[in-house]
Amino acid sequence: MPRPFLFALPLLACITSLQAAEPLKVLIVDGQNNHKWEITTPVLKHALESSGAFQVRVTTTPPKGAPADAWNAWQPKFADYAAVVSNYNGEPWPAPVRADFQAYVHSGGGFVSVHAANNSFPEWKEYNQMIGVGGWGGRNEVSGPWLYVKDGKLFRNTSAGSGGAHGPQHEFVVEIQNPEHPITRGLPARWLHCKDELYSRLRGPAENIEILATAKSDLTAENEPNLMVIQHGKGRVFHTTLGHADYSMLDRGFYETLQRGTEWAATGAVTRTAEVPADFPTAEKTSPVLLEGHPKQAPPAAKPAR
Ligand code: ZN
Repeated sequence: MPRPFLFALPLLACITSLQAAEPLKVLIVDGQNNHKWEITTPVLKHALESSGAFQVRVTTTPPKGAPADAWNAWQPKFADYAAVVSNYNGEPWPAPVRADFQAYVHSGGGFVSVHAANNSFPEWKEYNQMIGVGGWGGRNEVSGPWLYVKDGKLFRNTSAGSGGAHGPQHEFVVEIQNPEHPITRGLPARWLHCKDELYSRLRGPAENIEILATAKSDLTAENEPNLMVIQHGKGRVFHTTLGHADYSMLDRGFYETLQRGTEWAATGAVTRTAEVPADFPTAEKTSPVLLEGHPKQAPPAAKPAR
């Protein structure tokens, strides 16, 4: 056997183990939102990077009403990332960006939709297939069924009505519906989430979707989905309806489920973020995350934004 081959084997093993330790590249998209994205994107970035599993970059779209030139200059390279996380709810993206994004997810890219990202793009068919269900933006029974869990099973309510609703913000208990999924495995069956909006009556095509966790809505008295996974082509989508404001995201439960959901969307497995943190919330007690130097968002106005 020629000597170079003998030397090549340990070298190859070394390269492989180095690659395995490299953080997963994640791209956060923001720039327009009826929520304070300038304040919440740094929290999302910290939530991911503090796990050590991710390296995060942010791409910011032009502001609302920007000229076409500004939009034409915005050309995110989705394919360079293992997962894309959306903190965006605004104007439609240019057609080439939409086409790139569709191709990215369809061919196996990971996508994570956070809170009002599911308000986005009511007219974009493939986007709605990716998120499964969404709210507002004129969504109604034509958009698809209202999705929730009834008697332990996923239930599609096809009755007429608008999509998207929530009551006043409050702390609420998140209940795991599938404890066997990599994203939820080992987490407490019920945990108290920090003050947030409890999204309800979400509607959409709801294809290839599984609800992983729910919360009982005061508004609808149904188990409304908080955490969902969707298969779209070869791509995996993690959809969290949680995260209205920074104080909703600065929550160990939000952090852990975002990390696991993003890893799963990126790779199809949860290994790097599987350890359950000692300070994970219980059914009785929230677990806020302290982020040094973070400007505290003002408390919600009397009339809450979506
Ligand atoms: Zn909101």
